[in-house]
Order: sequence, then structure tokens, then C-alpha cells
Amino acid sequence: MTRTAAASTARPDDEQQRFASLDPRTGEVVGHHPVRTEAEVVEAVRRARSAAAFWAELGFDGRRARLDAWRRLLVRRLAEFQSLVCAETGKSADDARIELGLVVDHLRWAAKQAAKVLGRRKVASGLLMHNHAATLEYRPLGVVGVIGPWNYPAFTPMGSIAYALAAGNAVVFKPSEHTPGVGEFLAGTFAEVVPEFPVLQVVTGFGETGAALCRAGVDKLAFTGSTPTGKRVMAACAESLTPVLVECGGKDPLIVAEDADVRAAAEAAVWGGMFNSGQTCAGVERVYVAEAVADEFIALVTEKARALRPGGEPDADFGPITMPRQVEVIGAHVADALERGGRAVVGGLESVRPPYVEPVVLVDVPEDAAAVTEETFGPTLVVNRVADADEAVRRANALRYGLGAAVFSRHRGEELAGRLRCGMVAVNSVLAFASVPALPFGGVGDSGFGRIHGEDGLREFTYAHAVTRKRFGTLLDPMTYDRGPRTVRHVLRLIRVLYGR
Ligand code: NDP
Repeated sequence: MTRTAAASTARPDDEQQRFASLDPRTGEVVGHHPVRTEAEVVEAVRRARSAAAFWAELGFDGRRARLDAWRRLLVRRLAEFQSLVCAETGKSADDARIELGLVVDHLRWAAKQAAKVLGRRKVASGLLMHNHAATLEYRPLGVVGVIGPWNYPAFTPMGSIAYALAAGNAVVFKPSEHTPGVGEFLAGTFAEVVPEFPVLQVVTGFGETGAALCRAGVDKLAFTGSTPTGKRVMAACAESLTPVLVECGGKDPLIVAEDADVRAAAEAAVWGGMFNSGQTCAGVERVYVAEAVADEFIALVTEKARALRPGGEPDADFGPITMPRQVEVIGAHVADALERGGRAVVGGLESVRPPYVEPVVLVDVPEDAAAVTEETFGPTLVVNRVADADEAVRRANALRYGLGAAVFSRHRGEELAGRLRCGMVAVNSVLAFASVPALPFGGVGDSGFGRIHGEDGLREFTYAHAVTRKRFGTLLDPMTYDRGPRTVRHVLRLIRVLYGR
């Protein structure tokens, strides 16, 4: 069921199609938003062009002052922001608070670091070009389109928006149809501190509005969402050679080695798998536990997961499943795992009670079951026993997904982390990398490519601009027809001496 069918309402007075965002806990309408047409999206990108010139001219210091002011405004209005996130996603108050804390931290980091990471700097010109000075800077692309998902409606798109803005770009943001109000809130608060030009605009609507943004002539498109939609976005952007950043789903493994702190690993597995109702791209979905500690680990996970309760009240452990059709996917994965010989040690099929899903922990699930190979995106964990941590690494690396991972080991944590094919690994914790603004975030394989966050995340929204300046002439200059007859021979001799040994 899409919201087009469920909740759109037409406004005959101004011909503007509108749709409603709903509270998944109650089905109540949170707000109405325009369905932006292709023409409106093109117009937004056109407006963004002049805004981009204004924003780029502010320079690093000017932009930092505005971004810092925006951050302070977001902090002042945190309670309002949080209740909007809760209303549109259904997530618990604490899950929303954690999300918004991270938004603010990243915004601060990107604004502060942009000048150092992107500003013009000298680089070594090398022995052969010693008579030239060489400099490099990273310039804004212009207008960046951002398409975001609903599960972290502020944190996830802000991984692109904050970094693209800090790098000097204007942004046109298409939020998920489930969380348009959060997008409007971001753009509205930004406009309070940057009233001169529409540097950050929001275009609300459904998938077609996102598709229109891909074709609207933006200078880069940053997409976060599912892998199938990521492929469609790439195909649309390919038509105009628009570069893309694609942050897609994951099926993140957690490895519990023989020498792990088993209690800490169990706590982390349950939180990493269940918080935000398991609707986390880099959340824990599968656990590989070494046989030596498996019984103890499974007993602890069982105890902790059984104590958790989903609900609509603010202090619930986690909220409902935000997107109604995801409930069917979760149910199908649990049913398939049980039919194929897996066992539920917590919950089972009866745990799926839309819009809520209670914790489910499955053990001994065949490795080719959907619950192991596909993104479940619910408060479920698959825990499979392995002979040792080395087998765990092999299984962890067996999927096409490669977003994040976690390793619990007292002595081999970093060694095991180094063998995992994925973008980020947390050792003796889960998801810590997402909270370190200096670290890049992104995946490999079906989890996408490109990076948000960190220095890479700033550079992602720029192009490199390189300049050489000749400081003085030299006798050995091969790059002119005025060179002497022996110049090239001398240069080659030099190369042999310098680099041939
Ligand atoms: P979707 O892929 O369904 O949608 C993502 C965004 O794309 C939405 O704004 C959606 O609009 C839009 N969209 C849909 N169709 C098109 C199209 N043809 N062209 C352009 N845009 C389109 O993902 P979800 O919103 O369901 O988000 C959940 C997914 O996001 C999960 O797979 C999760 O793992 C992933 N994710 C990845 C993260 C990462 O950093 N790697 C972080 C967070 C989530 P509409 O909503 O209106 O359909």
C-alpha cells in the first residue's frame, strides 16, 4: 500500500495535488504536503542555481557562521523537531533524540572542517617540476540533489545535506513520502538563518518527484534508500551523466569471537538489532557466534530481547514498523526461516502484530534463507553458530551487501575487522562509526558507493581544482619546442638515476 492510494487528497482550488503524512502509531494525519511535479522540480533546481552562487561567494567563514547559527536554532527547537520525527516515523522519543544529537554533531563538524579539508593548499611539485608551485582546492559542484529515506529522516539525509552545504553547494532535497514534514522543518529552519536565497529547498512528493530530481539538471545526486531504487536512480542519472552517490541497504553482521566479552556482545547485539524497531541500514541483522561461547551468548540475548516491548508511548523500547508493507517482509522472512529448520528462541510469527513487531530471535537459520541474505528491517536477529571467528568472517563476507559490521573480541578485534569487506566496522561496540563525524560512512557492493561524513564526505560534493604556477625557468624544460637538442636525453638520464634503482 503506497500513500498515493492511501492518503493523497486533491485540492481543486489550486490544482495542487497534496498528500498526507501519517502517524504510523495511530494512522492520524500529521500534515499535508504538495506533490511536486516535474516542472516544479526543474524550477526549484533553477532557483537553486542563483542561490548556489550566493552561497559559494560567502566563503568558508561566511558559510560556517550560517551553519553554526542553524545548528544552534535546531538545538533550541529540539523538542519540536523530536516530536515531529516521532509523529512521522513512530519511533520512540529516545530513538529520535539519539538521531537528532547525531545530526547536530555532524553539522558542527562539517561546518568547522570544510575550510581545512577543501580550501586551497600547496602540494609538492616533485623533482622534475621543481620550478613550479602546485596548489589544489576542492570547489563546490553547484546544485546537489538529495533523496532520502524515512527511517532516519533527519540524520540520513543530513549526512549529505550538511556536508554538501558546508562544501558550498545549494541543495534540493526530496524527503521520503513518509517523512515530508521533517524535510520541511529542515528547510524552514535553514531559511531562518539564510533568508536571502533558497540555498536549501525541499520538494515533497512520491517516487516520481525523486525521479524528476534525477533528471532536473543537478550537478550531483546523493541518494539514500533501498538497493533497487538506487539502481533506478543511477539509470536515470546516467542519461545526463549526472554523478551519483548511492547509499543503500545492508545486512550487517556481528561477529562474536571465542575471546569476546560475551555479556557486552549480547547487549550490543540486542540494541543494534532492535533499536528504532530494527529499521537501521547499518543495524545488526545477523550474528555469527563462535561455538565455544554460543550457549552463553544465546541465553543472554534471549533474556535481554524478551524484556523489550514495542509501543506507541514515548518511553516504549521501540516504536512501530513505519512502512506498512515492511511488516509483510518481516513476517515472510521469519516464516521462511522457521520452515527451513531455524528455531525461534524469542518470539515467532505471532510477534508480527501490525503496526508493531515484537522482538524475534532466530537461531540455526540456513545461510541461504532470506532472513540471512536479505534486509529484514525489523526487530529481528538471526544468530548462527560457527566453529570459530575465522568461519564467521567467511560467512560475514559471503553476501553482496557490505555496509557495516561489528566484531567482539578481546585480542583479535582489529585483525578480524581488517578482513571484513564492508565500509565500516565497530570493534567491541555496534554502530560507533556513525557517531564519529571524522569517519566516512558508506558501503561496497549492493550497499552502494561514495561516502558521506568525514573528509571524504566533504570532498564527495566537490570537484578537485588543480593549478600549477611557473616560478622560474629551467635549463631542463622538455615541455617546449625551444628546448635544446639534449634536453630530453638529460631528463631521461635524471629519471634513470632518480627512479630506476
Ligand atoms: P526507498 O528506496 O523506497 O526510497 C528512498 C527514497 O527514494 C524515497 O525518498 C523515495 O520516495 C525515493 N524514490 C522512490 N522511487 C524513486 C525513483 N524512481 N527515483 C528517485 N527516487 C525515488 O527506501 P526507503 O525510503 O524505504 O528507505 C529504506 C532503505 O534505505 C533501506 O534499504 C535502508 O537500508 C536504506 N538506508 C540506507 C542508509 C545508508 O546510509 N546506507 C541509511 C538509511 C537507510 P518515496 O518515499 O516517496 O517513495
